[in-house]
Amino acid sequence: MDATRIEEVVGDFVTLKKRGVNYLGLCPFHNEKTPSFNVNPTRGIYKCFGCGAAGNAVNFLMEHEHVSYPDAIRNLAARYNIEIEEDAYNPTPEQAQQLTERDRLYQLHAFAQSYFAQYLQTDEGKAIGLSYFRERGITDESIQKFGLGYSPDGYTTFSDFAKNSAYSEEELASSGLSTLREQGGLVDRFRGRVIFPFYNLSGKIIGFGGRILTNDKKVAKYLNSPETLLYRKSETLYGLFQAKKAIQKNDNCYLVEGYTDVISLHQAGIENVAASSGTSLTQEQARLIRRFTRHVTVLYDGDAAGIKASLRGIDILLEHDLLVKVVLMPDGEDPDSHSRKLGPQGFQDYLADEAVDFIHFKTRMLFDAAKNDPVLRAEAIRDIAESLSRISDPILRSTYSTGTANLLKFDEQTLLTEINKQRLQRLKGKSADDQSAIEAVRPEVQAYGKQEVHVKNDLPQEADIIRILLQYGDKLLDSQNCTVTSFICNQLDEIAWDSPVYQRIFNIYLEGLNQFQSIPDIHQLLNHTDPEIAGAAVELYGKSYEISENWSLKHDILIVALDKNIEADVISAVTRINLKKVLRLIEESKQKIKDATQLSPEEHDQLVAEHLALEKLKIQLAQQLGTVITH
Ligand SMILES: [Zn+2]
Repeated sequence: MDATRIEEVVGDFVTLKKRGVNYLGLCPFHNEKTPSFNVNPTRGIYKCFGCGAAGNAVNFLMEHEHVSYPDAIRNLAARYNIEIEEDAYNPTPEQAQQLTERDRLYQLHAFAQSYFAQYLQTDEGKAIGLSYFRERGITDESIQKFGLGYSPDGYTTFSDFAKNSAYSEEELASSGLSTLREQGGLVDRFRGRVIFPFYNLSGKIIGFGGRILTNDKKVAKYLNSPETLLYRKSETLYGLFQAKKAIQKNDNCYLVEGYTDVISLHQAGIENVAASSGTSLTQEQARLIRRFTRHVTVLYDGDAAGIKASLRGIDILLEHDLLVKVVLMPDGEDPDSHSRKLGPQGFQDYLADEAVDFIHFKTRMLFDAAKNDPVLRAEAIRDIAESLSRISDPILRSTYSTGTANLLKFDEQTLLTEINKQRLQRLKGKSADDQSAIEAVRPEVQAYGKQEVHVKNDLPQEADIIRILLQYGDKLLDSQNCTVTSFICNQLDEIAWDSPVYQRIFNIYLEGLNQFQSIPDIHQLLNHTDPEIAGAAVELYGKSYEISENWSLKHDILIVALDKNIEADVISAVTRINLKKVLRLIEESKQKIKDATQLSPEEHDQLVAEHLALEKLKIQLAQQLGTVITH
């Protein structure tokens, strides 16, 4: 751990920028547009203020790469040239099974890659696979770099070989390298295809793409691994592993369509390139790129119709606040052929000279096509407004809107109205999706504003109150005509907190209010001299990060609704904790009645009356909560 430099380990997967003594980047564990992922090199730890992910280099590798503890240690040891002595590791049976299944799959993929690579040097491999690579101008160095290979044209050649090497039929089938036949037995999936392995960000092989070289119309030209434990098509960008260092260095990522485009660009000296592999881009892919850079240059080839069809895919990049440029290949050329034609220097110059801003490119293209047809022009404006409406950075969006309106000599206000209309529509329908995306990455992240609060915390109600104080303490609660701090302190000043640390934080607010009529400064709490208080404050304040970002996103459209939502949440949080208190009192009073054997009838009635009053209060609070929640 002493030898490990956390910023290097994390830096393999996220572009980190120095901020004072720390580093800052986009969190790989949750979806975010503003960096909140902090790396502290002196302490060797990371902490995300968005989702709460935190730990050291080992934790990072385990969580990010889904590897076991020993594997993470091995990884670090190899990286820093440290020899480790291995003792027996005793995982639970489920852990062992999970790990072995995943580890076995990694092994099998590495095994298959080396088999395909070697097969390229056989007579069949040379005649078909290697000659294809040669024809495409792919060098031996690239074959090595990208792990290219050839899968023999026998039905079971690979499967048999793998079985002889102690891989089971189940393993082969679940890896997707072989397919189970109805009548039993396996068939090689990639038979007779040249092989392009897919790597994950740490360089392990997770799947394959195979291209067939015959002109048989009945079989797909390209075939990929199916979705497996290791491979998710939507989360993979071909070539990103080989490109990530160069993307960070150049602060730009070229995006192409095919595997061979990626390889050709590398051979032309351009290594910051990845391919979406023909499918339209996904959210996850955009996020992957965004981790390393904010700049994307899309290389287009093909005719106007083809380009027009793929324009929509670029909107996903805009949504993730990527700054997108476009380079159009000349007629009849693709990046592969054109780079070979111009040579490395010529092609690099071409890309530098021809890159144009995506929005301008799209605007020009649609308007050139529309000519003076008013209907087509209106369609084009709507289409461009849609792209612009995806940009979440308001300053950037407004700059583009002005630029586009000028370019078209079109009234900017009309364009803005259309953009806002589309944003509003999407925000209405989309917030649910966003939330589920966050939860998919980190199930324990708090779904604020929903009834259910999924926090890994024994005291969610108390945590909620503290979080609200930290985040909104100084804000005005309109309906109560006082600050959030006053409201909460007045409502809860008698409550006994279960968590000692929350109690102490609450006392700081209470004292501040009572003695100085002031609200504690958030920075004072985040950096409190009591590490427990600082820790809890950081933890809770961090939890609200993603949510506050969502709110500010809505802010420029839905200011009124926004404040009401916060109010409702504050009030319901207070009600919830009061309800909890009442429930406890009810339990206590039940116990008292049960235990009271020697009471006078009056005393007994008194207890029962108290109990009933509490029950009534419970119903009231629950009703209040119901209305707040449905609100
Ligand atoms: Zn995070």
